[in-house]
Amino acid sequence: MDFEQTQLARMIEAAERVAIFTGAGISTESGIPDFRGPGGTWTRQRPIDFSDFLRSDAARRETWRRRFEMEETLRRAAPNRGHRAVAELVRSGKCPAVITQNIDGLHQDSGIPDDKVIELHGNTTYATCLECGSRYEIEALRVDFETDKIVPHCACGGWVKTATVSFGQAMPVEAMRRAERETLLADLFIAIGSSLVVYPAAGFPELAKRNGAALVILNMQETGLDSVADLVIRQPIGEMLGDVVGVE
Ligand code: ZN
Repeated sequence: MDFEQTQLARMIEAAERVAIFTGAGISTESGIPDFRGPGGTWTRQRPIDFSDFLRSDAARRETWRRRFEMEETLRRAAPNRGHRAVAELVRSGKCPAVITQNIDGLHQDSGIPDDKVIELHGNTTYATCLECGSRYEIEALRVDFETDKIVPHCACGGWVKTATVSFGQAMPVEAMRRAERETLLADLFIAIGSSLVVYPAAGFPELAKRNGAALVILNMQETGLDSVADLVIRQPIGEMLGDVVGVE
């Protein structure tokens, strides 16, 4: 292990309780593009606001067209060494839950139980009815959309949308509450693969630091909180964490 890896390993060893916070950077190594990053989808096409989704048939149709366009990429993606390292930290009992900005479900795919993944922006691997909450699988919706041009809707009359938090949609109250709790209980907060600029999510590492926890930032690019972190590491995530935690 190099100097930074040794430092991180010591900090994890010394910590009583670790909070892990992940962003797009951990999943780019699985082939999932960083939508917000340089060249990401959102720099090329404007995100569709939640109010437009509710109001306009064209907006709903375009939202779903974009989602189905991503399907092959999402389906091909598998957890990488970074996800496996995080899963090992959870399994060891040192990290009670993972807070994530990602919507790809790869933490769950890496073996972390659903109830230990706190999804701040929801999950795009399935859909729910906005009225009654019924769950729908993407593949079935896609078949109807592509063969009959039917925009996903529920038997109750409600619109069906991926279980993500769209722009203009309220942050999920329960997930935010749990993320805050994990942040306040941790004595070590590790932010992985996030540029830490999207609020309110990026407020968690700040809160951890103010609360006296040590803050580690692992990201290939500069982040908004590098200057207050105890350790900043700019190395490929999977390799770095895999070595530290000892997983392949
Ligand atoms: Zn419904």
